[in-house]
Amino acid sequence: MKKLDKTNNSNKLSYHKDGTPYCQNFDDIYFDSESGYLQSDFVFIQKNQICSRLQAAKKTFTVAETGFGTGLNFLLTLQAYQKAQQALSQPLAPLHFISVEKYPLTKAQLIQSLSLFPQLQPLTSALTHNYPDCATGEFPQSFKATFLNGQVSLTLIFEDAAHGFSSLKSLQHGLVDAWYLDGFSPAKNPEMWSKDLFSQIGRLSKEQATLTTFTVAGFVKRQLRDIGFRLEKIPAQGKKKEMMLGVMQSNPLTNKGYQLRPRIIKPQHVSIIGGGIASACAAYALTKQGVKVTLYCKDSSLAQGGSSNAIGALYPLLHQQKDDISSFYQQAFWRAKSLYSEIAEQGYSFAHQWCGLLEVSYKEALIKRQQAFEELNTWPTNLIHGVNAKQASDLANIDLPYGGLFMPKAGWISPQELVKQVFNAAKATNRLKVMTDTHITKIRQLASTNENGPSWSLTSNQGEYNASVLVICGGADAISIEQLKPLPLTATRGQVTSMKSNKQISKLSTVICHKGYLTPENKGIHCIGATFQKNDTNITTVKADDGYNLTMLDKCLPALSSTINWQEQDISSSKARLRCMSQDHLPLVGAVPNVKEHIAAYPHLAKDKNWKYKQAAPCIDNLYLLLGLGARGLCSAPLAADILAAELCNTPYPLDNQMLFNLSPNRFIIRDIIKRKVTEE
Ligand code: SAM
Repeated sequence: MKKLDKTNNSNKLSYHKDGTPYCQNFDDIYFDSESGYLQSDFVFIQKNQICSRLQAAKKTFTVAETGFGTGLNFLLTLQAYQKAQQALSQPLAPLHFISVEKYPLTKAQLIQSLSLFPQLQPLTSALTHNYPDCATGEFPQSFKATFLNGQVSLTLIFEDAAHGFSSLKSLQHGLVDAWYLDGFSPAKNPEMWSKDLFSQIGRLSKEQATLTTFTVAGFVKRQLRDIGFRLEKIPAQGKKKEMMLGVMQSNPLTNKGYQLRPRIIKPQHVSIIGGGIASACAAYALTKQGVKVTLYCKDSSLAQGGSSNAIGALYPLLHQQKDDISSFYQQAFWRAKSLYSEIAEQGYSFAHQWCGLLEVSYKEALIKRQQAFEELNTWPTNLIHGVNAKQASDLANIDLPYGGLFMPKAGWISPQELVKQVFNAAKATNRLKVMTDTHITKIRQLASTNENGPSWSLTSNQGEYNASVLVICGGADAISIEQLKPLPLTATRGQVTSMKSNKQISKLSTVICHKGYLTPENKGIHCIGATFQKNDTNITTVKADDGYNLTMLDKCLPALSSTINWQEQDISSSKARLRCMSQDHLPLVGAVPNVKEHIAAYPHLAKDKNWKYKQAAPCIDNLYLLLGLGARGLCSAPLAADILAAELCNTPYPLDNQMLFNLSPNRFIIRDIIKRKVTEE
């Protein structure tokens, strides 16, 4: 490595034949000559999702960069700001771009370097016009300028990165939304990538701050993890094969301890108990991340539990206001749609139709609810919107006396076919082994034999198995597992009835929800449902429940019911299965909490719910779950599985910390401690 010339922070710059600026001090180029513009745009602008985040920002959005260099990244960010603004009618929140530069280019060097990118004019001229015209060694400590009618401000600090950032004041919730770590590679510039720099990044980062960098060096990863970033190596563009993306999600300086997850080493192998939609999505997500999976299913074939119904509706649970539940189901719904499309595009076909779903306003309270939805206008119309009786009838292709709330992107799926195909897609990775007819009834923790912590012994009708990391997905069946007993999960029985189609109803072209539901026809049948019997675990079908399903349709939509005129002999089949329900209608995904240790670790929460004790949540080692999907597994399983895979593989979570905690299995015990419902024995 060449020795760094630190005299006056001088910058020894020359140019390659193609005009690419080259820094002799560090023996490195400022950007890739062939694809500099596109590569920088991809790594810094696209991978930090600058455009969409600017559009969503309510307050000043702050980008911080190490190494201003030629200002290319700044100009690309300005360009992104312009693009984001063009696509939006209201003004964007302001953008603040902060960059540190120890070896500044002179104005002439900046102009010459940026002449390679005529497409960035007139932004380049605006920058070069403002840039200080100083000789090397005479730059001020910092300088500020504004662009785009004052909407964008630039603060340039001409100092070493760590020192420069230490002069910035952090706000209560941090300062920086996105980091561009672009200061030559750590191999060529180890001085910049110092411990002090990482502690400044930790101090200044907001929760959910993102970072991108070309560097994938191990020590950079470790330091970033230590300050709370979750990281993922992803493919880059141009000559660089890989880049790193990070999200600040476990900042030990700002997070509540109980929201911090224990640090884990990505496992090579994971065992899953279950055979339904949760297991399928978990197996798919993990195998895609390179993890080998062994799946234990108690039945002789997959998808025999709640996922075995002939037809199931896929739609989000939305309230009038954007509360925690609706926000989760909104995101989960889009994720489910994208995963199922991905599976279908890979050639794994399953019966489904995105025919929309109509929640019929068949009684006064529902008419009021519909009005409130329409007035509040919380949700985009492609998710949900009100329709009158005529529009409802047109959408359903059948006469309906009521309007309702219509979800145009929702629809129905054959859950059993879907689940089997998700498993097939996971099997195609050659990383999934399925053990059917294997009923795990008991699990026992074994003593630790290595740094990965204790493993598990699984007792089944087929004998004993070992699992280094175990994920329990087995729906209501899992409730009886000893280690899960402290969790507030309940089994709720539901019976669905399959009805033979007839001339009057075969033309139904959307899913209809009333107190129950009625689906369009698939293979000559419609499904109606469902009963809801708490703590009833009997899965033999009962005639009276078919009667209940028919009566529900008759009571809510009497005219339609009499037109269809279904009689007992039109029942094709029925099925009773158990839903695994959580107390708050949200799934549980993550590490299984050690409840006693929670009570011992967080007693002060009973006095001050904002108490920030920094101990990570005490959990049972190597035991995870994905449960409590209720009747909404088709919607929630894909996103919940992504969370599980992120947790196990140490990659960024797809949701923010609050939402993650809303799904965390330890949320109930923390709420109980805060409400003083439990005390240490
Ligand atoms: N982001 C730049 C652009 O858009 O042109 C390119 C950055 S270049 C790859 C790396 C930059 O980091 C150089 O300008 C270099 O002078 C600067 N740098 C190197 N060590 C530094 C340090 N310790 N503190 C601040 N800047 C430093």
